[in-house]
Amino acid sequence: MNTCPPELSKNQLLDALKHQFGYQSFRLGQEEIIQNLLQGRDSLVLMPTGGGKSMCYQLPATLLSGITIVVSPLIALMKDQVDSLLLQGIPAAFVNSSLDQDTINNIFKRLAKGEIKLLYVAPERLKNRYFLQGLSHLSISLFAIDEAHCISQWGHDFRPAYTQLYTLKQDFPTVPVMALTATADVTTRKDILQQLGLNDPYIHLDSFDRPNIRFTLADKYNGEQQVLGYMRKRKEECGIVYCNSRWQVEKLTKFLARSGINCAAYHAGMEVEIRNTVQDGFAKDNIQIVIATIAFGLGINKSNIRFVIHFEPPKTLESYYQEIGRAGRDGLPAEALFLYDEKDVERIKKRIADGENEQRVNVELQRFQAMTGFIDAQTCRRQVVLNYFAEYTEQGCGNCDICLDPPSLFDASEAAQKVLSCVYRIKQQGDIEYTITVLRGEHTIKIKQQGHDEVSTFGIGRDKTPGYWFSIIRQLVHLGYLQQDIAQQSALRLTEASRSVLKGEEPLMLASPRLQKASYWQQNKTQKQYDRALFAKLRVLRKEIADAEDIAPFIVFSDATLSELAREQPKSSKSMLAISGIGDTKLARYGQAFLEVIQQHK
Ligand code: ADP
Ligand code: ZN
Repeated sequence: MNTCPPELSKNQLLDALKHQFGYQSFRLGQEEIIQNLLQGRDSLVLMPTGGGKSMCYQLPATLLSGITIVVSPLIALMKDQVDSLLLQGIPAAFVNSSLDQDTINNIFKRLAKGEIKLLYVAPERLKNRYFLQGLSHLSISLFAIDEAHCISQWGHDFRPAYTQLYTLKQDFPTVPVMALTATADVTTRKDILQQLGLNDPYIHLDSFDRPNIRFTLADKYNGEQQVLGYMRKRKEECGIVYCNSRWQVEKLTKFLARSGINCAAYHAGMEVEIRNTVQDGFAKDNIQIVIATIAFGLGINKSNIRFVIHFEPPKTLESYYQEIGRAGRDGLPAEALFLYDEKDVERIKKRIADGENEQRVNVELQRFQAMTGFIDAQTCRRQVVLNYFAEYTEQGCGNCDICLDPPSLFDASEAAQKVLSCVYRIKQQGDIEYTITVLRGEHTIKIKQQGHDEVSTFGIGRDKTPGYWFSIIRQLVHLGYLQQDIAQQSALRLTEASRSVLKGEEPLMLASPRLQKASYWQQNKTQKQYDRALFAKLRVLRKEIADAEDIAPFIVFSDATLSELAREQPKSSKSMLAISGIGDTKLARYGQAFLEVIQQHK
């Protein structure tokens, strides 16, 4: 039974949004989605991560007379959502394998009495006949299927239990179903519509752009140090570093931990309990940085992740976009830093090509090509990504390294000659790293042993950084003036084409090396100003409250709410309500404590 309330006016909806959730206005699309739902229509909601999908069923759940059932794939996620709703004064509960039967029975009693508005369940539950029978005695107003892309066998988050969900439409034909996902993949969308059997659904397709995430690509020449330097500039900020292998995760974690960074590793080879502890510690801001393989993914709804670093390239642009999408869910500026090394790219290509199934190899190579297209882009990177997801934009974004610092060409003839003659002098026996140490005149044991401190090119590149030479050499490889001999430890070899450059027959133009910039500092200038000292105090209070209540700090208030508090510095309860993210219940609960900190701050 769909128990629709009488048609609600725009003002009534806004009123509910304000008082229950503390927000002043709807985000793009939310209102239409909610209005359609309230009329009993099925829907498919596609919004990027952080777009505000949950609101599309949470607000209606408070208005509909019956119960809203939310299907959600991860236990940790459910608990966060329920905690967060309870804090907003909205009665919610979850049922999953972590609860015993008594607790579940008790929840059903409360459901029957109408004491719970939202019930979160794992998809596996809905296969259970007794559970379904239990539901059939209740008044259900809506089924919301979160992370609906888990239904698609083609996606990487496939959950077999999701394919059972088609029975909902059969068992509860009059209850509207809302499917929600952040996946941008066209095949998956079709799968969702088909498999759930949605009836003339209202489809909301949002732009997949995440304008607050800055794309930054930098040459990786001393990866660990680069990551460390980046983190030292971003003290106290939470971030994720993605690597491709467990081995790399462990190695980088050890390095960062030894250097005093509060971090932890996360990969599929670790025991479940340890992984859960890491995820929980990260959510609660006890762990600042997680170094992970892609296993760290679905179910991170922490809103204050300020950066995502790719230490190695992902295999597809889809997974890249999904991974960086975890940054900046609160809408504040965030950065996706990609550390690029030609060697990583070659290694991945080789690994894909070594696959058994030829057809699969071809598909994977093609998908990886899209990834390298992004890496090699000479135009706005956001355009590259959005175009890939069939969303065409004409203008550059102004928030990626290419837009902010367009590549410029310079006459690199002399630099190239230095490199090529050095490769020649050391008899084509060194890889990129080694050649650079000779160019820069470093006195290493290996150079001494080989007698390369005697060659005429020893030290001719001392005036430039290693990163500079990496960039030049990589471009020379790209353009065919050098080759890396994979069979001989990636030693650099001269090619036919090298000769014309060595002879200086025509000028060679190369892109100015793109070294890692402190782009973060530029970013802050455009951000609205707020009192940083006060923000820090509010953060401490938030953490105290969160620890006392055993919930994640971002559930108490988001970073966006805290920075608005630090900017507006409200002096009364009434003016606090004007801050985005503070509704009636949160005001009653935390208002006084935050007001006191603001009042005492000068
Ligand atoms: P997702 O689409 O990834 O599920 P969420 O539902 O978690 O995104 O929403 C992301 C953030 O945006 C949350 O902190 C949520 O409270 C906030 N949000 C949702 N709707 C609004 C709104 N209308 N105004 C302001 N913030 C909103
Ligand atoms: Zn751009």
